[in-house]
Amino acid sequence: MQNLKLPITINPSRSAQRRLVCEGVCKLSDMTRLLAECESRSEHVQVSVKFDVDERGLTVMSGTASALVALTCQRCNESFDQLLEVEFTFSPAKNEEAAEKIPSYYDVVELDENGEVNLRELVEEELILMIPLIPRHDIQDCSADADSVWGELPEEVEKPNPFDILKQFK
Ligand SMILES: [Zn+2]
Repeated sequence: MQNLKLPITINPSRSAQRRLVCEGVCKLSDMTRLLAECESRSEHVQVSVKFDVDERGLTVMSGTASALVALTCQRCNESFDQLLEVEFTFSPAKNEEAAEKIPSYYDVVELDENGEVNLRELVEEELILMIPLIPRHDIQDCSADADSVWGELPEEVEKPNPFDILKQFK
């Protein structure tokens, strides 16, 4: 993918009329709220956004974003690389009243007073949501003793998923 720098803000309805497809990057170092939760492992966030108008005449912006970051394992305290990947489908609304008319299969993003959306903030928020509540290595990559007591971790997180166990036998 080319490293075209994306605009920070964009007018979604104008872009939708032109059926615009944006592929490019945002600087990861500009995403300070995201970097409060993890460490940067790549210079850029790769973003791809498609603007369209749906059959109801709503503006839709859908796409993907990904960035390589480092998280700290809550079991052994070592950092590990994690690719954060998101898929999103937004429909912009200029106020709450307009937002209520947007069907629930779209996420709502608020337009600013210029009718624009802050693309970088939108992507940043989506990436923050992808950071696990309790980041941990895969068990086979973790240097902590698998039998050690994990103390503060909530109980439900420790329970192995029965479907994962089944998968190992397939
Ligand atoms: Zn670990």
